[in-house]
This record gives sequence, structure tokens and C-alpha cells, in this order.
Amino acid sequence: MGKRIIIIPLLFFFITGYVKCSDKSKEHTTVHLERADSSGKSIPAGLQKLLNAYPEFLDHADENNLYWKDGTVMIYEDGIKDKTHDEKLDNPDIEDMMSQKYVKGSNWEEPPAKDYEPGRIRYEPFFLKMYGNSSSEVKRNLVKVKWADGSMIEFSSINGAADSLAKVSEELSGLPTEFQKYFRNIGGTFVWRNIAGTDRLSNHSFGTAIDINTKYSDYWKWNSNVIYTNRIPVEIAEIFEKHGFIWGGKWYHYDTMHFEYRPELTGD
Ligand SMILES: [Zn+2]
Repeated sequence: MGKRIIIIPLLFFFITGYVKCSDKSKEHTTVHLERADSSGKSIPAGLQKLLNAYPEFLDHADENNLYWKDGTVMIYEDGIKDKTHDEKLDNPDIEDMMSQKYVKGSNWEEPPAKDYEPGRIRYEPFFLKMYGNSSSEVKRNLVKVKWADGSMIEFSSINGAADSLAKVSEELSGLPTEFQKYFRNIGGTFVWRNIAGTDRLSNHSFGTAIDINTKYSDYWKWNSNVIYTNRIPVEIAEIFEKHGFIWGGKWYHYDTMHFEYRPELTGD
């Protein structure tokens, strides 16, 4: 690249939200900025949470950029104002993704307020980059995990996701007998697919989500009026949360069988 400075058209930012730049241009953009570990104050809390959760991939951040170890830079706030909730779901930036706080434990606001669903807004390029850009790439990172009912299931080994699921599994199998029915005949883990009726990839595509027994589960689309319904005991969610998973049972558009590995939302 020499000494050339790459000027990226503004439009490109709006369309893709991120840009992969050379080491040289990275140097130009970061030369006057202190690193995350010495200047935490200037970094948005959402970016700091991502840095804490994904140290294998992320290097540092400044006021509005996330710097990956491979030189990729992702914009935090895309500058598009007044997005509706649906627009945030369809065209989010990282700031939108981190804008709702996930509350762990039994003391959460039930039922969730309208459109309150931390973790449901996902900035897709972020996950594609870590877990794989295609079904075959994601599959390469899947490993077997012994599930709570004794069966073997597949999960991504990236970011310690499979190891965390193994810990969840061990704790779940230690729960009293009346809980065990929720873990049998599980809905599944890895499937490369869009969320029904959308162009957005399901978190199952990355091998980092698990649906427990659908027989005891509720999903907002099964109910014409989105009235909150849940039959999954919160004790189960608390075990998942302890190991970096969020629960779709805490979403306005609820999906009570669904747990996904999102340590940036369960961490401190
Ligand atoms: Zn699911």
C-alpha cells in the first residue's frame, strides 16, 4: 500500500458499516489515540464490553471504532439517526447492538417492555467474521459437546463457546428431576438459516445458539398478539447466563427455547 491513504467513500460506511483497511491506514487513524487499556474513558461502554468478551479477535477501540487484531476496523455509531426498532434489527450498527442492557437473574422486568430484547439486534458482520462467513466455514469450527440428556451435540469452539456450553450442560444435569424434561429432545444447535420471514441470519448459523425442548417452549410468532408467555423455569436461564449465554425468554419478541452465547451482554 505504500504511503497511500485510502479514502473510503462515506456511502461505503453506510452500506457496509465497516471496512477492512491495511496496516498502513490503521496507523494513520490510530496514531494520536491511546489504547483501550490506558484510556478507557474515551471508549463507549458497548465497545469496552466487546473488548472484554472477545480478546482473541479484538485489539482495541477508540471513541467510534473497533480495531480487530487482523487490521479490520468496524464503526461503532453509523450516524444514522432515529432508526425505528425494526430498522435497527434490519440495519444495525454496533451501537444499536449494544444499546439494550441484558439483565441477568430472576429479578428482571417480566414481561419485557415493548421492543426490549437485548441481544436480538445483531450486527452480522461482527459474528460472520469470528464464527465463519459460510455454512462450511462455521462447520469447520464445530466440536462435539456432551449435552445434559447424555446426547452429543455440536457447537462452535470459537471464543470458548463449546467449553461454556459444556459447563452449562453439567450444571443443568445436576438440577432436580423435574427440570430434566426441558433438556430432552432439544430443538437443536447449528443450522445455517435466516430467521423465519427475514433476511437476517439466525444465531444458530454461527453454531453458538441452542434451542431446548420446544414442547415446553413459547415463541412470539406462535401467538398472533405477541402476549408474553413462558413456561421455562428461570433457574435454567440463570445457569446459562452464568456461562455467557443470553435467553430469548427475556425478549419482547420472546423465544423461550432459545439461548445464545453472547458474553458481551452477560459480562460486567
Ligand atoms: Zn433458537
